[in-house]
Amino acid sequence: MDVRHAIQECGGVARTCELRRYGVSGDAVVAAAVDGTAVRLRKGVYANDARSAVAVAAAHGGSVTCVSALRAHGIWLLDAASSLHVNVGINGRVHPHYRCACIDHHEGKTTVFGVASAVDALKVAWRCLTLESYFVAFESAWRLGLLSEQNRRSLIEAVPERIACWLRRARGDADSGLESLFRFRMMLIGVEFESQVRIPNVGRVDFRCGRVLIEIDGRANHEGDSERARDLARDANAVQRGYVTLRFTYAMVVHHWPSTQAAVLAAIDDMAFITPADSL
Ligand SMILES: [Zn+2]
Ligand SMILES: [Zn+2]
Repeated sequence: MDVRHAIQECGGVARTCELRRYGVSGDAVVAAAVDGTAVRLRKGVYANDARSAVAVAAAHGGSVTCVSALRAHGIWLLDAASSLHVNVGINGRVHPHYRCACIDHHEGKTTVFGVASAVDALKVAWRCLTLESYFVAFESAWRLGLLSEQNRRSLIEAVPERIACWLRRARGDADSGLESLFRFRMMLIGVEFESQVRIPNVGRVDFRCGRVLIEIDGRANHEGDSERARDLARDANAVQRGYVTLRFTYAMVVHHWPSTQAAVLAAIDDMAFITPADSL
């Protein structure tokens, strides 16, 4: 096997001893580093692409973890942190490297390279995320199929009770992180919604509370004229069944929460005394 292929098999970063298992000799690795086929991160550690997160973490002395691993798994994150979070192990040594801005984590006795699993990343990410960001990431990982029931139980046991009590109320059917964030913020003030409710002649709506329907429109969706026409038709059908629909964008949920919350509370207050047609 050639050097690049062998490094790839090891996850993009490999020690010389690991490469020997693929039949790659020490001389071949050194030659690859000299001709630029591979990159020498430090003595005995090689990567295919020095700029990859896995390579920077290995140069630092460990593996990609926490929010950086969550991002690598495609899990929805509210905060756009740029620092690389690296697990160097309990006794691991941190190696100086060019432009280091890494955040250290110290988990496990052995130093490994690569990207932590979603479960292992969530086990430590509560230390670096706000409660609501962590809740949203947990629901996102669940929705992506990255957390089994056993995984969720182990995470609930691993985090402090002030976080665990919220994870017990998490769901695996939120369509987007934005929906998770909306529901979490409403739960914080004691307002519970039914999620993903199917209403005749309207279809599935994100949330329902009494006569109020809430639709959360993500950034990429609901931009075209046809989508807008469809939304308006849904809203008109909802009115016929006794509902009022409120629609919120990414910016309204993330950046203008006080006015969004006020609108929801006012709508719930106004409509609470009327019984929806579906309940009759
Ligand atoms: Zn972290
Ligand atoms: Zn670093």
